[in-house]
Amino acid sequence: MKQYELREQMNSITEPPGKTWFWELAAGVIDADRCIQCGTCVAVCPSNSIGVNEETNLPELIKMCTGCSQCWSYCPRGGLRYEATWPPSTPETDVPIPEENLVTRPDPGDAYWKITGGDPGAGLGRVLEAYAVRAARRPDGAQDGGAVSALLCGLLDAGAIDGALVSKPSDDPNEPWKGVATIATTAAEVRAAAGSFYNQTMALAELDLSTYALPPKPRIATVGTPCEVQGLAAMQLRKWPTGAHRVDAVVLTVALLCTKSFDYEKLIVDELERRRVVDMERVSKIDVIRGRLIVEYADGAIAVDEPIKEFHGAALKGCDECADFLGRSADISVGSVGSSDGWTSLLVRSDRGREAVERARGSLDIRHLDDPQALLRLDAFDRRTAVEALERNFDPDGSFFIDFASHVKNYTGSYRAPVFLRH
Ligand SMILES: Cc1cc2nc3c(=O)[nH]c(=O)nc-3n(C[C@H](O)[C@H](O)[C@H](O)COP(=O)(O)OP(=O)(O)OC[C@H]3O[C@@H](n4cnc5c(N)ncnc54)[C@H](O)[C@@H]3O)c2cc1C
Ligand code: SF4
Ligand code: SF4
Repeated sequence: MKQYELREQMNSITEPPGKTWFWELAAGVIDADRCIQCGTCVAVCPSNSIGVNEETNLPELIKMCTGCSQCWSYCPRGGLRYEATWPPSTPETDVPIPEENLVTRPDPGDAYWKITGGDPGAGLGRVLEAYAVRAARRPDGAQDGGAVSALLCGLLDAGAIDGALVSKPSDDPNEPWKGVATIATTAAEVRAAAGSFYNQTMALAELDLSTYALPPKPRIATVGTPCEVQGLAAMQLRKWPTGAHRVDAVVLTVALLCTKSFDYEKLIVDELERRRVVDMERVSKIDVIRGRLIVEYADGAIAVDEPIKEFHGAALKGCDECADFLGRSADISVGSVGSSDGWTSLLVRSDRGREAVERARGSLDIRHLDDPQALLRLDAFDRRTAVEALERNFDPDGSFFIDFASHVKNYTGSYRAPVFLRH
């Protein structure tokens, strides 16, 4: 591989201690099939040395790696202890979770390891307000209540943001259900990007804003899966010169509740088109809801309605390890669970989030959240799955081993937590 050739060439150079190189990220995450295609490593690299491979949609080295270690340190499947980006909640800002639903690693000697995020992580995380929301004018193609699109349009109309990082349908007519990251700068572009795409887009790589017509100090809202928001939150909390990527421009983060995402080819092409002979041109909606994958045609006929576990082989393997269904690092979390059909569950987690909802209020219908317990139940299931996957993947007898326990115990408030990688 290209990056290992570079490594060979650099073998005679004395290496300062404590460096972690891109090829270690490649070995521990990308080549190990654990990458969840968030784009954090691309965005954080100060020398713009990491790009996106167009064929695989995975990060690749495009220039010399300087060994600055940041791609490893901020990667949600590498050195980032993402629970550290979850703001602490208080009894007033958290919805309690029953003790029996808390999942802890079965290691009594390791009091700090708790995949809920430790003490502050129980319940729904920091929640200032919880609502069911729908768009006052629902955009075509919205997934649930169209709350996200309406919020972004309201913020653009109010002049509160200059653009929004969203996911639009691919321009390639052969891939209409493939989501592609883009910065929408008009309400029309936001509406055209409504709906959920069940593939990861390397979204944070799109924060190189140089190809967009934006003011010199742009204000960008980002919509993304919780792992993307984790990377972003870490980069904003612990500032680091990030090369071409304008992490500093992000003024609002919206996390889509998420238990798993998929590989586009495996889900849409292999599972739906080939195996189930779905005519993708007639499809008007794909939804993952109540544990099922549902594919609907424009005439209302249901093309597929099967348990989501039937599609597990098409899911990203790195999603198994993820314990952040609720997007706890975000300013606002949104999802379908917890509200009736046609509404979006919306958790306001920060003052930035509260202000955004206020500014866009005229575009939104808002009422109380129907069923917060439904969110807690799915979160507990998600964390259980994550604990099982971590125990499976980090068997010390395996081909590589990341000592998560040491990683957590040595955690001192810095995201540059020590992680031991053994090949
Ligand atoms: C992979 C994935 C898994 C999800 N899993 C769950 C779940 O298990 N439970 C649950 O309650 N909700 C889940 N959601 C969230 C849910 O599908 C809706 O996105 C959410 O309820 C908002 O609906 P809305 O009608 O308000 O948004 P809309 O107004 O339709 O806007 C959705 C916004 O999200 C953006 N977007 C769509 N796909 C992506 C993507 N892949 N990456 C980044 N941005 C994207 C769109 O561009 C648009 O701006 C998931 C979403 C995704 C993408
Ligand atoms: S998980 Fe994200 S940060 Fe880690 S290698 Fe993949 S794209 Fe990069
Ligand atoms: S399950 Fe977790 S890792 Fe996978 S896409 Fe969703 S937030 Fe990211």
